[in-house]
Amino acid sequence: MHQIKEKWEDIKEYIRTEYSLNPVSYNTWILPLKFYEIKDNTVYILIPSENSQALKYLDTKYKKVFQVTISEMFNDSFEIQFILDNSKEESEEYVDITNNINYKNANLNPKYKFETFVIGSNNKIAHSAALAVAESPGEIYNPLYIYGGAGLGKTHLMHSIGHFTLESKPDTKVIYITSEDFTNDVIESIRSGNQSTISKMRDRYRTADVLMVDDIQFIIGKESTQEEFFNTFNTLHLAGKQIILSSDKPPKELETLDERFKSRFGMGLIVDIQAPDYETRMAILRQLAENNSKKIDDDIIKYIAENVKSNIRELEGAFNQIINLSRIENTDIITLDTAEKALRNIVNQNQNELLTPDYILNIVCEEFDVSPEDIKSSRRNQEIVTPRHIFMYLCRQIIDMTYEDIAKYLMRKDHTTVMHGYKKVKDDISKNPEYASKITNIKNKINPQS
Ligand code: ADP
Ligand code: MG
Repeated sequence: MHQIKEKWEDIKEYIRTEYSLNPVSYNTWILPLKFYEIKDNTVYILIPSENSQALKYLDTKYKKVFQVTISEMFNDSFEIQFILDNSKEESEEYVDITNNINYKNANLNPKYKFETFVIGSNNKIAHSAALAVAESPGEIYNPLYIYGGAGLGKTHLMHSIGHFTLESKPDTKVIYITSEDFTNDVIESIRSGNQSTISKMRDRYRTADVLMVDDIQFIIGKESTQEEFFNTFNTLHLAGKQIILSSDKPPKELETLDERFKSRFGMGLIVDIQAPDYETRMAILRQLAENNSKKIDDDIIKYIAENVKSNIRELEGAFNQIINLSRIENTDIITLDTAEKALRNIVNQNQNELLTPDYILNIVCEEFDVSPEDIKSSRRNQEIVTPRHIFMYLCRQIIDMTYEDIAKYLMRKDHTTVMHGYKKVKDDISKNPEYASKITNIKNKINPQS
């Protein structure tokens, strides 16, 4: 018996820790895998499922991981082949589902798929949960509740679940609907006063296998729609059908929502999506650049990622503005100049909002637990002098203020004290690495990409 078979559980555990997999990813994808056999220097791994989408996903995301792990643990290299439980070998053929009636009724945007969803630290739990639900709807997390600010990828994830489910089980009845459309549907059918129109509307939702309602916060408080939705929710949930909801807030913060439903919405899994960090913004921009015919330098991508931070919709907007301007200017290669011009409005807005001496002063005060009045005062005890000097230093470093302007801001007649303070911090930074890293931390707080 080969060691790989013997140590199969250890291999999975190794992957879990070495790749810091969150519990959802691990339990969905790695834990169920079984060792099958070794033949011709290939390790065959059995996926206990008939789901060809799962195979596709494991192939792209985990093949390398297994290869590397096995070579690290056993010092021996193997090919990896995932196989489905029912298949003889290899992958199933890809079926085009776009003509399928369920696909047409599902109301999905063909661009929003797992394949185009960039995973980052801001969304990785939500992404794993979405995949787990798509893999076995109605079985694990029901409902799945995704919340987060605008433009962070909630809708994209919901559509991805729809695609994945329909590609693996084309006979699933998937419905994606915005709460606005749901509301209109309910109101119109009620207004018609026609019983059969109403029951048709009910049937439409209550016979779904997977029902996704986007931006649920807009339903809450609209009485008849809310009532209709709750009844649908209960019917589906009791029948073990999958429900996926999105909102801008977690259930407990939806103010006018009934207590009963706050707890029901939380019965499955609640996950959030945060604003993307720098790495994720870079990865998303690189994906956009790859799909574009124009050549876009990494410098440009960095420039966008550094200046557009709030959400992904804005990131895409900024990217498109640059592409459009380069089209107008009729340039083949996009220069930093074009990018700066295109984003002038966005960037200035961000900086004006944030990078003022007041703002810097507030952050420094927070760090040292002193008040702005202390800093501006003439008191000379060390607990105040140190942050005062740091404030002077940061105003020069981050927003290029002159010594004179800083002195004026601090209501001092003489700017040489500012000069002295600036030099003192600069010296200390070069002498003391611990101090230097403290200053860097404060700087990052003020301007994460400075
Ligand atoms: P939300 O529903 O949270 O307001 P969307 O799902 O509509 O946000 O996302 C806004 C835009 O950003 C869409 O074009 C979407 O494709 C894109 N987007 C969001 N998250 C990601 C991601 N992780 N990877 C790639 N594109 C993303
Ligand atoms: Mg949305």
